[in-house]
Amino acid sequence: GKVLVSGANGYVAMWVVRILLEKGYSVRGTVRSEEKGKFLADYFTELGYGTKFEFFIVEDITKDGAFDEVVKDVDAIEHTASPFTYNVKEPDALLKPAVQGTVGMLRSALKAGSQIKRIVITSSVAAIINPTTEPRVWNEDDWNTSAAEEFERLGAATSSITLYRLSKTLAEQAAWDFYKKYKSQLSWDLTMINPSLVFGPPIQDLKSPSALNTSLATWFDTVVRGEGKLSMKEGLAVTSSWVDVRDTALGHVLALQKEEAGGQRITTSASGFIWQEWLNTANALENNPLKATYPNLPHGFPEIIDENPERIIHIDFDPSKEQRILGIKYRTLTETTKDTLEEFARRGW
Ligand code: NDP
Repeated sequence: GKVLVSGANGYVAMWVVRILLEKGYSVRGTVRSEEKGKFLADYFTELGYGTKFEFFIVEDITKDGAFDEVVKDVDAIEHTASPFTYNVKEPDALLKPAVQGTVGMLRSALKAGSQIKRIVITSSVAAIINPTTEPRVWNEDDWNTSAAEEFERLGAATSSITLYRLSKTLAEQAAWDFYKKYKSQLSWDLTMINPSLVFGPPIQDLKSPSALNTSLATWFDTVVRGEGKLSMKEGLAVTSSWVDVRDTALGHVLALQKEEAGGQRITTSASGFIWQEWLNTANALENNPLKATYPNLPHGFPEIIDENPERIIHIDFDPSKEQRILGIKYRTLTETTKDTLEEFARRGW
């Protein structure tokens, strides 16, 4: 079958496209410019998938009917296009493309007739978790309510991080609302993949580290360069959860294949972490692949783990639904660190 992948040039999406092609699907990717499409076409031709990959240009995903043409003749959709940046001037720069892009895709799919069988949307754990000072295990019944409250209180002064989380929450809610409203008329069902923070080797077009996508840029700054807020002692104790880009991309593909994934939101998360653990992992590798440019990877403050164990509150997710329906075997911190550093080295960074 043929699968439409929106935002196909993105960090996560390019791996989704690659795994789809490896599993025998044909892929139609959407990008915002000819140049971005050309990069993908060249990359996938090189891998031997020249006849199985095509790209369409959708300049503005917020426009009415933006996806009407591209959804024609596809069997399934992976909607990943959505801004992930902490660098915006006004809330709508995040909220509009996230929500209108998502609902627009579903609206186009509704109009397209009966060929489409499943739509997978890339949501996020940002749409699940709320800030907490108590250890707890989250699951797919949890919803982010704090971002909306903060936005209500602070309006345009809301931090970009909160606005990003709100954009993912509102987009996911809008998708489920649409799905419930039109269910009786739809040939397809809906699956949400909610990834943790994504790390792992990038295959997208990057002129330099400064072009990295938000999650991997943070990893590069903290683990390789030892710069930025998170590389300070306080920052290295900051907790989050993560997943390898190849594993969450595989999750997107499995979500098309597993009947039981229909109508579900599914978290893809390898584990919780604090940043110091990535530094420890990188330093424990036998050979630092980046020796030439970064002979000494930052060590951080390994003692923070022993000093204050009760302060280390991992953000963890109940894996049972994901394991039951998708069954991803997650890469470890060591595997992901090694592969990521090797990819950076290959690029000469
Ligand atoms: P990237 O920035 O690498 O990719 C984002 C993609 O969305 C690009 O194709 C980009 O196009 C497109 N896009 C961004 N803003 C717009 C816009 N205003 N209009 C049209 N297209 C737009 O990020 P990721 O690969 O990390 O993100 C992909 C998806 O995964 C997003 O939905 C994100 O929220 C989600 N996600 C990511 C996580 C992570 O840690 N990376 C964690 C959880 C979820 P262009 O290149 O032209 O800007």
